[in-house]
Amino acid sequence: MPELPEVETIARRIEPHLVGKKLLRIIVLHTKSVRGDSSLVESAIVAKVSRQAKILVLRFENENALLIHLKMTGQILYQDSVVRLGGGHPTADWVAELPSKHTRAILEFSDDSKVFFNDMRLFGWIKAVDEVEFRQELQKYAPDIISPEITPEFFFAKLQRSRQPVKVVIMDQGVVAGVGNIYANDALHLSKLHPARPANSLSRLESGALLAALQKVIHLGIEKQGATIHSFRHIDGFAGSYQDVVRTYGKDGEPCPNCATPIERTKIGGRGTFFCPQCQPKIF
Ligand SMILES: [Zn+2]
Repeated sequence: MPELPEVETIARRIEPHLVGKKLLRIIVLHTKSVRGDSSLVESAIVAKVSRQAKILVLRFENENALLIHLKMTGQILYQDSVVRLGGGHPTADWVAELPSKHTRAILEFSDDSKVFFNDMRLFGWIKAVDEVEFRQELQKYAPDIISPEITPEFFFAKLQRSRQPVKVVIMDQGVVAGVGNIYANDALHLSKLHPARPANSLSRLESGALLAALQKVIHLGIEKQGATIHSFRHIDGFAGSYQDVVRTYGKDGEPCPNCATPIERTKIGGRGTFFCPQCQPKIF
């Protein structure tokens, strides 16, 4: 699943290619994948490409916007006569002929360049919104884990409100936005906290350490241009390399980077959870 660093990376990669271009039209290949009134952004000029929570945001000069949520298996691939770049869920479509059978929508720009929205499992969406809807849509998401709004006080107060496992709470997008499974596992390891600990059992000190660890791994993820955990690795313009520095995610049986104890795997909140039984003891 593309996480915050992957979406941030896509925004940074495609922005220089889109700003100043006129979006001619949105070709809809699968109606479920495209929401809102496309005419809000058709014939408008792209002003900015950014990310908020895990949403890719194209702002236009007419103040309207196109929001893109990749969910589980979404991809954004920019293509012109010279380059193809983008990112998202790693599959053969990164390098296949486009549109592929997973292409759900195509953004056509006035210079003949295109952005393909591919999505194997159809959970993702693109949505054209006006200024009011834009603000309403983004209000549904809690502040980003790396935004200045998340102070140690704010974060501690959020954890105090729940008895659920701390890993579930930090991944709840209504609590803080942008913490996915890979980075949640690594931040808990870095701050030496057992992932099943009730969130409200963390001390102020532990909560502060966890917040610092989350921000550290997310920034590292952005620096490494995201993670490419699955089949497609090291394809220029698509893949990230966070997987080369990952601490625990997907490493069950391998030695802990701190103490060499084998990493264990369990399930918490339905998600694969990796931890070191030595560094992250189950005392609570
Ligand atoms: Zn360890």
